[in-house]
Amino acid sequence: MTELRKLRMGMVGGGPGAFIGPVHRMAAELDGRIELVAGAFSQSPARSREAGKSFRIDPGRAYADYREMLEVERRRTDAIDFVVIATPNYLHLPVAVAALEAGFAVVSDKPATATYEEALVLKKAVAKAGLPYALTHTYAGYALVREARAICASGQLGRIRKVAVEYLQGWLSQPLEKTGQKQAAWRADPALNGPGGCIGDIGVHAFHLLEYVTGLDVTRMNATLRSVVPERRLDDDCSAFLRLENEASGVLMASQVTAGEGNGLRLRVYGEAGSIDWRQEDPNRLRVKWVDGPEEIRHAAGGYLSEDARAVTRLPGGHPEGYIEAFAVLYREFADAMIAWRAGQANPLPETLPGIRAGVRGMRFIERAIESSRTERWVKF
Ligand code: NAD
Repeated sequence: MTELRKLRMGMVGGGPGAFIGPVHRMAAELDGRIELVAGAFSQSPARSREAGKSFRIDPGRAYADYREMLEVERRRTDAIDFVVIATPNYLHLPVAVAALEAGFAVVSDKPATATYEEALVLKKAVAKAGLPYALTHTYAGYALVREARAICASGQLGRIRKVAVEYLQGWLSQPLEKTGQKQAAWRADPALNGPGGCIGDIGVHAFHLLEYVTGLDVTRMNATLRSVVPERRLDDDCSAFLRLENEASGVLMASQVTAGEGNGLRLRVYGEAGSIDWRQEDPNRLRVKWVDGPEEIRHAAGGYLSEDARAVTRLPGGHPEGYIEAFAVLYREFADAMIAWRAGQANPLPETLPGIRAGVRGMRFIERAIESSRTERWVKF
């Protein structure tokens, strides 16, 4: 029998002033299965120590860099169980490979790597290590996204004909990177971000949501990427036509210069018999429309929802769940898989949890979009 204890997490990134690192910590700890015990929280050793102190972890486990963390942790009897990666994109591959080689499972933020070539390297490393790897495509954790997915899988919509996905933000409408704003600065630098700007930052979430909900792969694409803000080195506005494996057509819009937008992720899926419409900014409602029937608004926590949606619902109806709870769903699935894996189960990751396949698909999408835009042609996946 495996020891009854919390899983131990070591974090890379997520230091003072970071955006997603704190979300990872809140989400990981929400269900009581995981605790933060170690980290290399910043590229600055002093700031990493300062962060460790504020998180109340053992000062000896706030490391100067991730290599030191892996080297020291692998020799401890109470070592971390997994590494979470919440750094700028260029570090995702080296940290993930080093963690896997040191014998630690990985939770990585998206995009999986900086380039498609790197994603293929990562895929091999995950297969070689035989360790759990999860990718935090946050939106896959919402109950009503699981409901939308279950509706598509049930065939109730009939054959899917058209998909429209948009992810609109406005925070990069001005050259924010020139002001030194931390999140904007590395995202505008190809060496730290990778070659896909907006397409890699949020386009990849939209792409993942589309494939995740419909269960259909994109097979062809005609994309246009633009840098709207003068002197910006990476794209900040993307539009793409898609074809899916069943020949359905799709439209994907992702932009960070759509002034006034916050985090406007929206997915609409149209089948022969009906359609669904979900918006991240109103995540506890899912609209379902029928060719021949009244429009439905399904509410999170409704007793009539699919088993998949109910399985990831925490609160009774009318109590809103949001971004952190959705993120925590992914961590709970990962933690349960880790517990099963430690108990000897060979392939414990549930297919609801995005993993290495989603990571490689996402990086292929970014690479294909750049190629399509460069050549002004349709490209195959
Ligand atoms: P950020 O700039 O706010 O945070 C990055 C953190 O990494 C900082 O604390 C920085 O000090 C640290 N860091 C940099 N180099 C490091 C090193 N060598 N060692 C240790 N730490 C180091 O960036 P962010 O907005 O939080 O984005 C981080 C990652 O999360 C990106 O890959 C981004 O794409 C992803 N992200 C995902 C979501 C999501 O919805 N899942 C949302 C936002 C960001």
